[in-house]
Amino acid sequence: MQSTRRSFLKGVGAGVLCLSLSQLGFDLTEAKAYAKELKIKNCRAVTSVCPFCAVCCQVIAYERDGELIATEGDPDFPINEGSLCAKGASLWSMYTNKHRPTKPMYRAPYSDKWVEKDWDWTLDRIAHLVKETRDKDLILKNEKGQTVNRLDSVFWMGTSHASNEECAAIHLAMKSLGVVSMDHQARV
Ligand code: SF4
Repeated sequence: MQSTRRSFLKGVGAGVLCLSLSQLGFDLTEAKAYAKELKIKNCRAVTSVCPFCAVCCQVIAYERDGELIATEGDPDFPINEGSLCAKGASLWSMYTNKHRPTKPMYRAPYSDKWVEKDWDWTLDRIAHLVKETRDKDLILKNEKGQTVNRLDSVFWMGTSHASNEECAAIHLAMKSLGVVSMDHQARV
């Protein structure tokens, strides 16, 4: 939303008014509860789990007409008691942010431009590069003559958006290629 000088001053004015009323001894609990209710009015509340790390904070997601309206920490869940860190608190904006890429973006070697590609092209490109790299770099035996089948030139970075089962399948696929260097975005 575009913020104008006028809307900014109106917002500051409303904030000052609320501050003044509470400082004057007015109980704003009911007003705050009403304001909160407006945002999630007629929404279906669904509990879910933040996918970004192993803490597994519980989240309440509010949905209306198939659209995600808001997310917040679940105050009844004993692990996070309603709180979320910066990653978990950004769940709603991650889902709705118009700047989030939803299609593969490709930057050719030495280019300074990103171009949109379809998934077929992208998967073919990845498969081709992985095959080419493995054919070139796979180490079959170490200096002692022991079989290692190790591919040191490929690194796998996982994502918190993958489930446990997907991570297990990816792990097996990487091991079958000989990849030994793997990490996960949740540690970053
Ligand atoms: S990323 Fe933050 S909010 Fe999400 S589970 Fe981990 S600690 Fe909780």
